[in-house]
Amino acid sequence: MERDAFGVSLDYLISEGVDIECIATDRHKGIRAELKKPAYHRINHQFDLFHVSKSIKKKLGLKAKKRCNKDLSPWINCLSNHLWWSSRTCGGDDVLLQEKWMSVTEHVGNNHRFRNNQMFKRCAHDPISGRDQTDIKWLKLGTTPHRALHEVVHEKSLLKDMSHLTGFKHTGELEVFHNMLLKYAPKRQHFSYLGMRARLQLAALDHNSNVFREQATTKKGDPRWTAAFSKRKKDWIARKVIQAKQYGFRQDLMKLVLKRAASCEWSLGLWPARPEGCRN
Ligand SMILES: [Zn+2]
Repeated sequence: MERDAFGVSLDYLISEGVDIECIATDRHKGIRAELKKPAYHRINHQFDLFHVSKSIKKKLGLKAKKRCNKDLSPWINCLSNHLWWSSRTCGGDDVLLQEKWMSVTEHVGNNHRFRNNQMFKRCAHDPISGRDQTDIKWLKLGTTPHRALHEVVHEKSLLKDMSHLTGFKHTGELEVFHNMLLKYAPKRQHFSYLGMRARLQLAALDHNSNVFREQATTKKGDPRWTAAFSKRKKDWIARKVIQAKQYGFRQDLMKLVLKRAASCEWSLGLWPARPEGCRN
């Protein structure tokens, strides 16, 4: 079902003249197969980093639950950050991305040089201070928790998928949109086709008017921050306070409605067509 809807939507965009260079999705098997069709061969299929790092964290979390692997726990968020960093800094090169990603199995053991790599020969961080050398809970190579970490990092399917992570794509903004959409179209309520369409359009206008807002500042001009509990990281984090939302689009919309009403151009024929098979 998901694959069919994806194919229909993609064909619609192409038929409307949209030149699709890249699509970021999760690692859904059906979608992967769909994008392998010859009609879509020019589209670069990337995976959403958020989904991939979430799945890695879940696997590591399960392993760390075992008593013999408890030393793995402090490294889980580091590995997720390392994946984001590797993708962001690989410059689109899948070999460099793989080498950066796999180097973490050496880094956790306090080894920061990789002679056998083609491109990534040493860690990019500054030399580790004497205090950190003793404070960081390094994982000794070959121990049970290190082997567990190695198994997740070197998983065959993950390494194979690295070429789909070179573009540093993530769907964070889309998740924000879906969350905000609930304000206009709550899931527990039924809406007619036209009602739903109008609500989606309103949500899109709201989103586009407020996307990429800058960080708010104090009267003195300093950036504003707040402390928030991150469910994902299971820890308190500093979060940027974003500028307040603007709803000027509502006024613009009302002006356009009045203008249309005054022009007497309003007729039922202006309603968008309902697709075949839609019952209401
Ligand atoms: Zn290192």
